[in-house]
Amino acid sequence: MRSITVLSGGHGGAKFIEGLLHGLRAGVLPGISSAESDAGADGAGAPEGVTVTVVANTADDLWIHGLKVCPDLDTVMYTLGRGLDHDRGWGRTDETWSVKEDLEAYGAPNTWFGLGDRDIATHLVRTQMLEAGFTLSQVTEALCRRWLSPVYGDQVRLVPMSDDRIETHVAVKDDSSPSGLATVHFQEYWVRLRAAVPAEQLVFVGLESATPAPGVIEAIAGADLVILPPSNPVVSVGTILGVPGVRDALAATAAPVVGISPIIGGHHVRGMAEQMLASIGVDASAGAVGQHYGARSAGGIIDGWLVDSVDAASVTALEDAGLRAAAVPLWMTDADATAAIAAAAIGLVR
Ligand code: GDP
Ligand code: CA
Repeated sequence: MRSITVLSGGHGGAKFIEGLLHGLRAGVLPGISSAESDAGADGAGAPEGVTVTVVANTADDLWIHGLKVCPDLDTVMYTLGRGLDHDRGWGRTDETWSVKEDLEAYGAPNTWFGLGDRDIATHLVRTQMLEAGFTLSQVTEALCRRWLSPVYGDQVRLVPMSDDRIETHVAVKDDSSPSGLATVHFQEYWVRLRAAVPAEQLVFVGLESATPAPGVIEAIAGADLVILPPSNPVVSVGTILGVPGVRDALAATAAPVVGISPIIGGHHVRGMAEQMLASIGVDASAGAVGQHYGARSAGGIIDGWLVDSVDAASVTALEDAGLRAAAVPLWMTDADATAAIAAAAIGLVR
């Protein structure tokens, strides 16, 4: 195995990829032996030849305070580059908040979306480059030269799902509006409203007319393995799948496609997958999400689906639906536990 492609959101995806890379280094991933990677015949070497391409969701992106912010790209970049504040789960380590405080002092709008001072440097570089005519892919590559290259060299590549502007908007109940609904940006639903009200409807502005970023289709078509990490099935993986051409590429690739459930025991571990699944009419259960993606042999996009041990009862129905399925602990408590999840996922579809 030479190349692995992961279709990722922010937190869940980034944590999984961190564990996958840890597993690669530790040599615990089945079928990815040192023999395949020219690292020697003793089986002990790290598989240096294996590359990981991360295709990240960009439908969470927003323009705010005059800056282009890409939350999922940045979460992956900071996590893998060892710059993420793990307590907060987003943004930079050693962060300060002077700009936010001064925006509030001005009474500036949209201060519900907190941007730390260090984080703002990333958005300033990105925004200036975009305004100078670079594409989001080019900007991401430039930002990753600081964060990923020093740690991984050429082993890890991060690409946005599209260079086009795509934004997830959420319709929520609003009695003061003639339609009874008001639409907010996904980040406003998540950060300001804390996903505490039902998402009546989701609108993916720009998605249908978007084109995949350079390298996205190639990364799926040319992979030896494609992984759907435990990212949000609707607003992270779902939006990547919604970029025209991506579903077809998954259906056509010679690589096996395996996914890991972000739902454990009927609940998301973190975030708002339950609210998002409700808005598209899919049960918040590990089995239902696997069946929502569906077996490639039956017109879906995955070959295997990993559920947590507490969801073991869903395995038979998943197998009946044409999937390889297994139940193992899916809590990404540390890098070893997450590497074991990656190993189980790979073992399922080898
Ligand atoms: P976001 O863009 O920051 O929301 O991140 P993702 O979409 O990549 O991941 C969010 C999903 O990760 C949520 O639906 C969580 O349920 C899931 N998640 C977070 N931690 C864990 C974990 O330890 N195990 C599993 N299986 N899922 C997790
Ligand atoms: Ca996200």
